[in-house]
Amino acid sequence: MTKSTSSAAIKTANSVLKDKVAIVTGASSGIGEATAAALACAGAKVSLMARREDRLSALCESIEKEGFEKPIFFASDVAKPADIERAVKGTVEKFGRIDILINNAGVMYLGPVEGANIDDWKRMFDINVLGLMNCTHAVLPHMIKSSTGHIVNVSSVSGKVVSARSAAYSATKFAVGAFSEGLRQEVSSKGVRVTVIQPGAVATELTDHITDAATQKSVKNWVAGMRALSSEDIANAIVYAVSQPPTVNVNEITIRPTDQTF
Ligand code: NDP
Repeated sequence: MTKSTSSAAIKTANSVLKDKVAIVTGASSGIGEATAAALACAGAKVSLMARREDRLSALCESIEKEGFEKPIFFASDVAKPADIERAVKGTVEKFGRIDILINNAGVMYLGPVEGANIDDWKRMFDINVLGLMNCTHAVLPHMIKSSTGHIVNVSSVSGKVVSARSAAYSATKFAVGAFSEGLRQEVSSKGVRVTVIQPGAVATELTDHITDAATQKSVKNWVAGMRALSSEDIANAIVYAVSQPPTVNVNEITIRPTDQTF
């Protein structure tokens, strides 16, 4: 856990999510890491998913050191359905139930359509869209069985607004919005809530992985030119959404930095 994650956790420490079991995908860095810490701090039993095992292990230790229940983790790739099944099964074996799924794992391969590496497009859809849908598919029977659950899908402002060089990334995040709304209509009568989070620019390592060099440079400059959000800002919004009474479904939260105009 980073120093700032840790102090954010302390600030919000409470037991509003006591005994709730939450899975967080993409928990090895950025928004997922901060959200896992914030959920643990609010009393939840947390199960972490991502590929970088060393980061997940360190986060578990760090959360325990802060005095909260030690999470469990599954080194897993959300593009691999067998990894998802293993993590969901392991979480139920350990904690007995699943109340909350934070579908956060994602990549952002921004760049122009002309000349794009189409392998990047496939990878983005495999992770951002199918990974999120398959995680949802795997946890849903457990939530419906207990007539309660909350699925939080991390989309983006790019799931509302499209700009040049974000055509493919926006396509994945618009898909997240469409899937979430259809899902919400299907499962709300079964006690399962669905929330979409649409962050603007957040200072994380997401931009480090942009493969188009010119786009990466301009996006990094754009983010550096404003007071970007922190991962904890988004984690706080997620904790707010999942802490509401069962009769309240926060459908959508859009959060931009004050300095971000579009
Ligand atoms: P990070 O790069 O810090 O985090 C991305 C996380 O996703 C990492 O934990 C990474 O873990 C995980 N991940 C990536 N690929 C896979 C995979 N195949 N299987 C499992 N986990 C995977 O970026 P952010 O925290 O910023 O991004 C989190 C989410 O927020 C994403 O969905 C992103 O689109 C969204 N978002 C971010 C914004 C921003 O400005 N930062 C703005 C709007 C939305 P690992 O590599 O260990 O697998």
